[in-house]
Amino acid sequence: MSFQDNQRKAAAYLERFVRDGVKNQIAGEAVDAVSGETFETISPIDLKPLGKVARGKAEDIDRAAKAAKAAFPAWAAMNGDKRKALLNKVADAIVARADEIALVECMDTGQAYRFMSKAALRGAENFRFFADQAPQARDGRALRAPDQLNFTTRTPIGPVGIITPWNTPFMLSTWKIAPALAAGCTVVHKPAELSPLTARLLVEIAEKAGLPNGVWNLVNGLGEEAGKALTEHPAIKAIGFVGESGTGSLIMAQGARTLKRLHFELGGKNPVVVFADADLERAADAAVFMIYSLNGERCTSSSRLLVEESVYDAFTEKVAEKAARIKIGHPLDPDTVIGPLIHPVHLEKVLSYFDIARAEGATIATGGKKADIAGGGCYVEPTLFTGADQSMRISREEIFGPVLTAISFKDEAEALRIANDVDYGLTAYVWTSDVTRALRFTENVEAGMIWVNSENIRHLPAPFGGVKNSGVGRDGGDWSFDFYMETKNVAIATAPHNIPKLGG
Ligand code: NAD
Repeated sequence: MSFQDNQRKAAAYLERFVRDGVKNQIAGEAVDAVSGETFETISPIDLKPLGKVARGKAEDIDRAAKAAKAAFPAWAAMNGDKRKALLNKVADAIVARADEIALVECMDTGQAYRFMSKAALRGAENFRFFADQAPQARDGRALRAPDQLNFTTRTPIGPVGIITPWNTPFMLSTWKIAPALAAGCTVVHKPAELSPLTARLLVEIAEKAGLPNGVWNLVNGLGEEAGKALTEHPAIKAIGFVGESGTGSLIMAQGARTLKRLHFELGGKNPVVVFADADLERAADAAVFMIYSLNGERCTSSSRLLVEESVYDAFTEKVAEKAARIKIGHPLDPDTVIGPLIHPVHLEKVLSYFDIARAEGATIATGGKKADIAGGGCYVEPTLFTGADQSMRISREEIFGPVLTAISFKDEAEALRIANDVDYGLTAYVWTSDVTRALRFTENVEAGMIWVNSENIRHLPAPFGGVKNSGVGRDGGDWSFDFYMETKNVAIATAPHNIPKLGG
C-alpha cells in the first residue's frame, strides 16, 4: 500500500475518534466517565489531537469491577471448547480489521507501518494460541503417595485487572488479555493514557465476535487515578502489569491491602554481547534491528552493545553506517523505519541523554539530535554512543528510544561482569561460534530470556519475563495459566489407613 493510500485510510478510520471520542466499555455498553471528564490524546506525528478520551476514576473502575465480577461465574463455568471457539472468532475478527488496527496504532503511537502491519496479526495469533489451550487449562497432575492419590485441578482466579503501557499497545493488550480470558477470568483493562485508541477497537471487536457483556471491560484514565483504583479494588483478584519498574513498585504497594496476585513485565537495559568469533555481519544486522526497530521503544531492545576489544572499532563502525542509513519519517510511509517517539515529554527525556553522553565523555558516532521531519513531530535520529563504559548513565538507564551504547570488553569474564552490572535483567543476546562459551555465558548472565546468535524471535509456548528489576513472574504457554488460575489439590485415601484415635 502506498503512503497516500495509508494516509487516506487512516484519516477515515480516525474520524470516529474525533467525532465520538474514546469511551469506556462497561458491561457491554460504551459509556463516558461518570464525572463526564475527558483528556486529549495527541498524535506524535504533528501533536494534533486525535480525540477526547474518557477520564475514568475510582467510580468507573468500581462499575467495571462489579461488571467483571457479575460476568465471572458464567464465563468461568463455560466449557473450554466453547471458550476456544469464541476466542478463535475474536482472532478472526482481529485479522479482518488488521489494516484499520495497524493504521490507527501508527497514528496514535508513531510506530512505523512496516512493523505495525504485523502487530495486529501477532495480536490475532496471541488469541489463537491461548484459545487452543482453553480446553486443557483446568487440567492438573496426579501425584501418588502410599495409600493416597493426590490430584490437582486449576480454576480461574476471578476478575483480573490488566494495565498496559503505551509502546505497541495493541499487541501487548492481546498478549495479556487473551490468556486471562482463555483461563476463564473476566477482565478490566486500563490502557496507557498516551495511546488508548486500539484498546477501544479491541474490546469492540471482541464483543462483536460474541464475547458476553461484562467479560471484558475497558476503563481509560490516568495511572494515578484509574490505574491505582484498579490495583486497590477488592473484587479484582490479580493484576497483570506491563510498564516501568518504578510503577511496578507502586502497584505492589497499592495492591498490598487487598493481597493482589501480581505479574510484572518491566523495563530493561539489555546487552547484546558480540565475541570476535561471531558471524559479525549477522550480529550487526541483529543489533541494529533490535535497537532501531519499533523506535527503540521496546522493552526487549538491545540497548547496550558489548563488543570484544579486537573487533570493537570495525564492528561499531559497521553499526554506525547501518544506523545512519535508516529512514526516519512519517509512520504511514511504508519505507519508514523510525517514526516519531510517543510524546514531547518522552522526546525531551531521550534528547537529554545526548547531553548526558557528552558530559560523561562518550562519543556520538552517529545521530545524537532531533530529526527535522515535516509536521514537527517527536522525531529523533538513530544514535550510537561509542567509547562508553559501564559506569555511565547511558549504560545503566533505560532510555527507551533508538539509542545504542557501545562498550568494549577484553574477555568473557569482563563481558559477563558488564552484562550483569545493571539493575535490570530482561533479555540478553549472545553472538559467538563457540557453543561451550554460549552455554557457559547463558548459564551465568542475569536475564529471563536469552537468544544465542539471534535477534528476539518469540515462540509463544516459551516463557516470557525478566529477573531483577525487569519483572516478577512469567507469561507464555502454561505459565500464563498458572498466573490466572488457582491450583487446587485433592487427596483421596486409597486404603483403610490407621487414623490416630484421640479421646478413645
Ligand atoms: P508506565 O509504567 O508509565 O505506565 C504503564 C501503565 O501503568 C499505564 O497504563 C499507566 O497509566 C499505568 N500506571 C501508571 N501509574 C500507575 C499507578 N500508580 N497504578 C496503576 N497503574 C499505573 O510505563 P510506560 O511509560 O507506559 O511504558 C514504558 C515502560 O514499559 C518501559 O519501562 C518498558 O520497558 C516497559 N515495558 C516492558 C515490557 C515487558 O514485557 N517487560 C513490555 C513493554 C514495555
